[in-house]
Amino acid sequence: MSNSRISRITTATLGAAALTLSMSPSATAATSQEDVPTFAEFKASTFRDVGGQYVVNGDETIATTTKLRDYYDTMVNRQDGTGSTSLVVNTAGGTDDLWSASQARNLTYCVSNGFGADKAAVVSAMQSGAGQWEAASSGVNFTYVSSADASCTVSNSAVVFSVEPTFTSEYIARAFFPSSPDSQRNVLVNASSLQSSGSWTPSNILAHELGHTLGFRHEHTRPEAGTCFEDNNWRPLTPYDSASIMHYPQCNGSSSDLSMTETDRQGARSVYGS
Ligand SMILES: [Zn+2]
Repeated sequence: MSNSRISRITTATLGAAALTLSMSPSATAATSQEDVPTFAEFKASTFRDVGGQYVVNGDETIATTTKLRDYYDTMVNRQDGTGSTSLVVNTAGGTDDLWSASQARNLTYCVSNGFGADKAAVVSAMQSGAGQWEAASSGVNFTYVSSADASCTVSNSAVVFSVEPTFTSEYIARAFFPSSPDSQRNVLVNASSLQSSGSWTPSNILAHELGHTLGFRHEHTRPEAGTCFEDNNWRPLTPYDSASIMHYPQCNGSSSDLSMTETDRQGARSVYGS
């Protein structure tokens, strides 16, 4: 989740970028196709996280430079207004990017002791955020494994993913998708920002991030949003929902508090069961 720093390379998304509180110094905002950066420029301006993954669309990750090139090509070559395109699922290689039924019922995680004095707040927000999806679909179950907290990294095979602190100001938190390689399956959280983001509660911020870990993309990539287009590698699960928890409020969203909607719950049930 990023409320203030979003890198953009296409005309269609410029409006959203202008609405943000501040642009990243490295962000590239093009005003016409002629201003589209080269791949080298785009790559150089894209924030690269601790595990080497690229962070795009505010809080989503791309694992490798090869995949970043694919993403860039999609952005540059995309066609406006192409048909279909509230909840949408990420696609990888043309197929839905989801957990298997058994995996979705056992999404184990740890919360790093590195959060220090903020750890209790992060643990609480994770349990509350996870609970929002668990209440939506009986096929989703996140399990907190506190015994792994002392060595809570992507290397810990006792859990599916780790929740680790970050001190970057590039985002409040960022997550991963089911197709992300095991070495990049972590949720990074700026605990200070998490607890000071106004109407966005810690529970809702982490529920948004956990939506990504379940395979859900930003709702505002749909053409109905009219802005903030990302790419076409997704499939709609529900009618467009401008109030979706996966819809950035600053991208023509209709809800300011990032709360989960009934449409979000329906979408989750459509892929993980009721
Ligand atoms: Zn997001």
